[in-house]
Amino acid sequence: MALRQIRLFDDEILRKKCKVVEEVNDKIKLILNDMAETMYNTENGGGLAAPQVGLLLRLVVVDMGEGLIKLVNPRIIDKEGTQEVIEGCLSIPNTWGKLIRPGKVTVKALDENGEEFILTATGELAKCLCHEIDHLDGILFTDLVTEYIK
Ligand code: ZN
Repeated sequence: MALRQIRLFDDEILRKKCKVVEEVNDKIKLILNDMAETMYNTENGGGLAAPQVGLLLRLVVVDMGEGLIKLVNPRIIDKEGTQEVIEGCLSIPNTWGKLIRPGKVTVKALDENGEEFILTATGELAKCLCHEIDHLDGILFTDLVTEYIK
């Protein structure tokens, strides 16, 4: 495994749309492991999306304190309600803001073995999944902020 360099906000790659992963092979498994290692190497990162390490692939890792989840081609298939959240981003250091996210999301994805799974999340995990999946379409949380926090 290896640490990958986290791309920062002025990097164009963060604004690009990521490609669907056609085959969950060893290369993809390696990238997911590197992404997890890179996320755990940060001070408070709860999630990381592939474009943040310079790869235009639909891959996400999250860990909001309840264990690591690796997602290949994640898609939000259902959302319910709203919640006001505070977010930051490893690609936009020292910036936090309030925004509105769904209160509950259902996400469909493949795991690192290419098996489909469905995950329903609320609270912080729902927020994190929305944030990371947005990255796959070039959307940053600052696009959605209603109020910055000093
Ligand atoms: Zn982010």
